[in-house]
Amino acid sequence: MKMLWLTLLLTLVMPGQTPVTAFPLRSKDEIPAQRLAGPPEAEQKFAEEYLRHFYDYKPKSQRQKRAADGHVDNEWTTDFCNKVQEMQRFFGLPPSGELTNETLAVMRRPRCGLSDVERFEETIRWKKNTLSYRITGYNFPIPASKVHKVFRAAWKIWSNVAPMKFRKRNRKEADIVISFHNGDHKDGSPFDGKGGILAHAFQPGYGIGGDVHFDADEEWSFNSTGFNLLAVAVHEFGHALGLPHSSDLGAIMYPAYNFAPTHELQLSFRDVKDVQNMYGVSPNFDSLFSKNPPPRTPDKCDPDLSFDAVSELQQEVLFFKDRFMWRRHPKFDETGMTLISSLWSDNVPSYLDAVYENVERNVIVFFKGQKYWILRQLKLEEGFPRNISDFGFPSTIKSVDAALHFRNKRLTVFFTGKQCWRYNELQKTMQGSPTLIEEQWPGVPTPIDAAVFYEGFVHFFKGNIHYEFDSLSKSVVSTGPLNNELDCRETGDNEVLPERR
Ligand code: ZN
Ligand code: CA
Repeated sequence: MKMLWLTLLLTLVMPGQTPVTAFPLRSKDEIPAQRLAGPPEAEQKFAEEYLRHFYDYKPKSQRQKRAADGHVDNEWTTDFCNKVQEMQRFFGLPPSGELTNETLAVMRRPRCGLSDVERFEETIRWKKNTLSYRITGYNFPIPASKVHKVFRAAWKIWSNVAPMKFRKRNRKEADIVISFHNGDHKDGSPFDGKGGILAHAFQPGYGIGGDVHFDADEEWSFNSTGFNLLAVAVHEFGHALGLPHSSDLGAIMYPAYNFAPTHELQLSFRDVKDVQNMYGVSPNFDSLFSKNPPPRTPDKCDPDLSFDAVSELQQEVLFFKDRFMWRRHPKFDETGMTLISSLWSDNVPSYLDAVYENVERNVIVFFKGQKYWILRQLKLEEGFPRNISDFGFPSTIKSVDAALHFRNKRLTVFFTGKQCWRYNELQKTMQGSPTLIEEQWPGVPTPIDAAVFYEGFVHFFKGNIHYEFDSLSKSVVSTGPLNNELDCRETGDNEVLPERR
């Protein structure tokens, strides 16, 4: 499954190739009726099955699909495209309604077996705060003592934030039964072998209610090989407590497997709010989280948003923040957010300082502290990360604020504090001594957060402000809220901030 995912990613960003995602956005009524000619039938079938399972799509029978003259029934295709759009919106993809390569790649990601559109009529929660659980079966893919330890840790992650107690039982009946199963295990939701669906759980209730099943065919692990059991267990236990899926990319309750070993596994702000809305706040919550509050997923409409780094990547502009990035494509109006690790796995750290694309060498360069990473087509070049002294920086420079690459001049400008450095990419040497930013780039504040060249202007970012700099007149020609660069035009509007449910 890992191999497949990587192959799919490669198809998205191979140099010189226009991503197949490049369909212009259309309004609903403009979605073409005739679109079966697009993806191969197998992919169409796979997508239908995915949407049926996770988005409550009800495919019509073959006969209904085709009108008497053999043409595709418009109503059916509209239904299908609407469901594709619903799925694309949930995952932050451009909602084209088309089965793009990127859409199919997301559909193929390993994930939880529960639906993304389950509408709970009323919140179903346990009416007690002490729950018992039991681990049954003998077919553990890994040592039983370790499995027990992982599950105890997973429950603790929830009881740290909500006033719950979880007690393990070895013999008697328990509220929550946890087990591993292969294939069809007689609950109406068979597992599918390696990859695909990893686990599922049942809402709180009697009998099977609250139970959690793991696919025994997966390669479960305690680290980053295969699938991390703790990461999946925390997610499934969330369902066992009554939580639905969240479209918040940083949430544990996000339906796709997102585990990044470089990042500490923790509940996001959204997970914490959701579970506390159901069960209340754990008495230990403040003492446990006052110093390290649960991380909020960045919101492109947050008026206080700032960027870590901004870079071009082929036709796209990438805006980096924490472990996430927004991808702005010239052909789409909507700017989708993804995890940095979704594109470059664990080769690139989060909380970056600076990033630039060197088109001539066909590489992208990442900076954090005194280290830098060079990647070619998603792969880390051998011997990296290396020290930024390679560029000619003295050891007094501990980090780079921003990097600005000019394709035609084969020049990269680095910004550190009040200074800027000119690096000749052809000779691989620093040109002369650093100069003052206020002399070279009048009107640009220091230190800056990020710099990038696109659409004929140099763009600087500092705090929540975006500065557009014209190189010809050597002046800042416009400033504005940084959110405008992410198709968010409603800054300051409280409605667009993360909502509390
Ligand atoms: Zn789930
Ligand atoms: Ca599976």
